[in-house]
Amino acid sequence: MKTMDDLFLHLVKDIYYAEKQILKALPKMAKATDSAELKKAFEQHMKETEGQVERLEQIFDMLGKAHRGEKCEAIQGLIEESEEVMKDADEASVIDAGLLASAQAVEHYEIARYGTLKAWAAQLGLKDAVPLIEKTLEQEKAADKLLSEIALSSVNKKAA
Ligand code: ZN
Ligand code: FE
Ligand code: FE
Ligand code: FE
Repeated sequence: MKTMDDLFLHLVKDIYYAEKQILKALPKMAKATDSAELKKAFEQHMKETEGQVERLEQIFDMLGKAHRGEKCEAIQGLIEESEEVMKDADEASVIDAGLLASAQAVEHYEIARYGTLKAWAAQLGLKDAVPLIEKTLEQEKAADKLLSEIALSSVNKKAA
């Protein structure tokens, strides 16, 4: 990895791999929860994620590179954590709390990645990539916010 361009491409590959893993994990998470609200949030974000994958493919095209990911250990670890919750917990409220925590960790990872990508794209003069990254970044932030709201409302419900 010699140049900023290499570093940028590396990060695009990393998040492309991550989005594809997330696309596989979200339906499992939607299936594992009894909460209609949480299920809907996961399903809605799955649809958004399909668009995010496409936007990354547009960026690969702009760079003249193949649509090829690169293994991201971070996302694998986060997804494994969510799988442990689904496997080990048996009380619905515990599963939901664990799923919410995992999903928010994933969103925070993505927010960090897309924030960096946006700054680097601007720095490298990749003007057409910036709005694509920005759109995805906004979706990740909105997903995180929605998860926070669901977590708060379910905690409040339980307290009542
Ligand atoms: Zn990497
Ligand atoms: Fe995403
Ligand atoms: Fe990574
Ligand atoms: Fe996301």
